[in-house]
Amino acid sequence: MRIPFIGGNWKMNLSLDEAVQFVIDIKDKLPDPKNVETALAASPLFLESMLKANGSSPLHVTAENCFYKNEGAYTGEVSPKALSQMGIPYVIVGHSERRRYFNETNDIINKKVHAVLSNGMRPILCCDETMGRLETGDRIHWVVNQVTAGLKGISEKDALKVVIAYEPSWAIGTGHSASTTEAEEGCYLIRQTLADIYSDDVANQIRILYGGSVDPDNIVALMKQIDIDGILAGKSSLKSKEFLELANYQ
Ligand code: PGA
Repeated sequence: MRIPFIGGNWKMNLSLDEAVQFVIDIKDKLPDPKNVETALAASPLFLESMLKANGSSPLHVTAENCFYKNEGAYTGEVSPKALSQMGIPYVIVGHSERRRYFNETNDIINKKVHAVLSNGMRPILCCDETMGRLETGDRIHWVVNQVTAGLKGISEKDALKVVIAYEPSWAIGTGHSASTTEAEEGCYLIRQTLADIYSDDVANQIRILYGGSVDPDNIVALMKQIDIDGILAGKSSLKSKEFLELANYQ
């Protein structure tokens, strides 16, 4: 019922030429989107060329971030309206690197979720454990808080368009993924939170991803977990061979 979602997050990596070549290399080797959806998030500087290279392939060319206003005196920001006009379907919102290095608060992230949805796109809302590896009790506090704050004022209809990613910062870029138990626990907590905010029915339709040092060796075990509907990969999405292994994990 929930179609698996395999996402890559390139962050501030690759060149324009490499980004385009990457899309050309993978676009005919992706799984049927009826079985697995795939997405690659890239710099806004690459998106237009990637969209052209991608053509009608099932890959979702995705933005890594955007601002919460459509236009105005906001030097250097990326307009969600402009992304939408380009034909971008998904935007990552609230990645832990945005929270940590760019001081994005839950309030800012919530405004971005609203902005992405009101422009007809779908947010990939990231939640993390900024304070380091947590025990279950504290994990509940962080995750519940971020999900609740991120979705404040979002209707049930719009919530169904959101993808949520559980990305503990202590597992990101370390080469050490959360254990399958920890990853499942984080995603399960998110689903329980969604059930509390909306309903069991809504919670069971929303896709929840795990991110943090996912690679072709650990993806299968992660994807077997009940509440993990997909992954968001950073480092292992930077090589087309590895990204294809992730996308075709089934
Ligand atoms: P990683 O990054 O796979 O390199 O740990 C994941 C992410 O930041 O989304």
